[in-house]
Amino acid sequence: MRILITGAAGFIGSHLCDRFFREGHEVIGLDNFITGTPENIAHLFGNDRFLFIKHDVTNFIYVPGPIDAVLHFASPASPVDYMKYPIQTLKVGALGTHKALGLAKAKGARFLLASTSEVYGDPLVNPQPESYWGNVNPIGPRGVYDEAKRFAEALTMAYHRYHGLETRIARIFNTYGPRMRLDDGRVIPNFIGQALRGEPLTVYGDGQQTRSFCYIDDMVEGIYRLLFSDEVEPVNLGNPNEMRIIELAQLINEMIGNKAGIVFKPSPPDDPKLRRPDITKAKRILGWEPKVSLEEGLRLTIEWFKSKISHG
Ligand code: NAD
Ligand code: UDP
Repeated sequence: MRILITGAAGFIGSHLCDRFFREGHEVIGLDNFITGTPENIAHLFGNDRFLFIKHDVTNFIYVPGPIDAVLHFASPASPVDYMKYPIQTLKVGALGTHKALGLAKAKGARFLLASTSEVYGDPLVNPQPESYWGNVNPIGPRGVYDEAKRFAEALTMAYHRYHGLETRIARIFNTYGPRMRLDDGRVIPNFIGQALRGEPLTVYGDGQQTRSFCYIDDMVEGIYRLLFSDEVEPVNLGNPNEMRIIELAQLINEMIGNKAGIVFKPSPPDDPKLRRPDITKAKRILGWEPKVSLEEGLRLTIEWFKSKISHG
């Protein structure tokens, strides 16, 4: 098959490129490098089953030849990134999704949207099932991301209902692993970077807020299965192993042997207090659930960040 991936130079996008490439498909990657880097896909360059196009997907996308599937992963994803690029985030979720859907329609391709647990906002229901409509502040600083993704889901369903497009929606929960940027501001790269430098870990608020972290290989498997499934409505993908941020900080300090401890910083506005996926649907429909434990995933991620730092 010929697969087009937007956001191909990013963290998840680059791992998807690897997976589809490994399965023998032809992969076309699109990215404008706003938060990604060519380094993430450099190993694929020069191969005749991989084509890269530097392009801002909020503009019309022209790609010659047939395409079987479009995976729309372009979007700043870390709170630090999307608050730095609020307009670009809204544009890529709205205009970028429109262009990517238009391309899929023109090519008769299947479309998969990278949506997010942020559509649930600061949830009043825990864990979050797909049937929960969420609790989002549209005008807060996180609204640029949450509302763009909610719009993207609505547009995707409209293309399905009104144009008969084959669409899939993955609601992705916190995912981590190699190729995240050490400075992307998300909690795992922040904590690992701080611990490796022997600095105290910056816990925002009282650290009692929870998240559930999924290792990248498990996420890629879930996305792969969802693309080839028949499910049109959103499917949660994530690891249901929920923990407090303070516990994550203690675990990372312990694993790295960092004696500098923890410092508390103010909580960012609208920081969700709870987040845990209900993955009953993914288990039933995709026969999927995460396999990599947090300790194992963190070990692999720490190794990767260490090698990055030692190689400059
Ligand atoms: P990332 O920042 O590493 O990757 C995003 C990529 O999209 C980057 O390479 C960036 O340069 C590219 N991009 C952004 N705007 C673009 C535009 N207008 N045109 C072309 N390329 C553009 O982030 P990630 O963690 O890999 O996230 C990928 C996708 O998965 C995003 O859509 C994100 O919302 C979604 N997601 C990720 C997580 C997570 O925990 N990592 C959770 C939920 C949803
Ligand atoms: N967080 C923290 N210290 C940091 C970075 C993040 O305590 O250095 C907290 C943040 O306030 C949130 C959680 O960790 O409660 C996860 O944050 P992240 O930015 O990774 O993603 P989010 O799940 O909020 O989108």
